[in-house]
Amino acid sequence: MNKQYQCYKCLYSSKKCNVINHLNRKKSCERSIHSSYTDSEIEILNKAQFEQKNTKNTKNTNNGNIADIINIDTQNINNIINNFTINIDKITGFNEEWVVDNLKESQKNNLLVTNLMYTHLLKIILENEFNKNVIIENKNSTTGLIFKKINNEKQYQEISIDEIINESMIKLHKQLSTIYDNFLSTNENYDDDDTSFNEHISKQKNLTNQKLNDFLNNKKIKNTVKDIVKKIYIDNKEDAILNQKIIIENKDTFENGY
Ligand SMILES: [Zn+2]
Repeated sequence: MNKQYQCYKCLYSSKKCNVINHLNRKKSCERSIHSSYTDSEIEILNKAQFEQKNTKNTKNTNNGNIADIINIDTQNINNIINNFTINIDKITGFNEEWVVDNLKESQKNNLLVTNLMYTHLLKIILENEFNKNVIIENKNSTTGLIFKKINNEKQYQEISIDEIINESMIKLHKQLSTIYDNFLSTNENYDDDDTSFNEHISKQKNLTNQKLNDFLNNKKIKNTVKDIVKKIYIDNKEDAILNQKIIIENKDTFENGY
C-alpha cells in the first residue's frame, strides 16, 4: 500500500500528489471536529510529512530542522497534558455556567463602572483556562465547536455561531445579574447603607437587562454584538484547542470510569 499523507486541519487523507494539491488550494479547508492541532502545529505537521526523508539526509544543516521542531513541540504538549490531566474535570462545559468565583475585587469593581459589562466579563471569564470551551476558527466561520458535558459524557459538538453567541449572552446576563445582586446584598449589611450606591447598581442592572433585550430584538445590534463576541473567542482559540487536545487524549481514561 502507498504511504498515505494527510491534511492535519481537515484530516483529509490520500496519496502524496492529492494531498499536495489539497494544501495548495486557494480556498482553505474547514477544520475537522477531530483535529485538535493549533494553527502553527498544523503548518509544521503538514510540511513535515513531505520533508522527513530530506531532514534525515541533511541533518547537519543550520536551517531549522523540522523533525527537531516537532520533537520539541510534542514534548511541550506532553508536558502540558501531563500537568493538566488531573484538572480535566475542572474544564467547564459550554452547557454549564462559566466559573466566576475567582474574580478579583478590582475586576468586579470594574463591572460597576463600565457600560461594556458583557465583553468585559467575557474577557475576564476567558482568563481562566478552564472556561475556554469554545473554538471559533476565524471571522468568516458560520459554525464553531463547543465542549459539552452531560453526566459523565464529555464531547465536542459543532453548533452555529448564532447559537454560541446567543447562549453566551444569556449566560453572561445571568452571571452579571448575580454579581450586581451580591453587591446590593453586601451593601445592605452595613448600618449606614449607602442609597446612592444602591441606586447606581440598580442602574447598572437595568442597563444590563436593556442590553440583552436590544441584543435579542434588534437585528442590527445583534450583528454588531456577534462580531465583537466572536472576536473574543477567536482571540482565545489556541488555548481552547489545547483544552480540546487534553480532553481527546484523555477520553479513554474517562470512558474507563476513572
Ligand atoms: Zn484540509
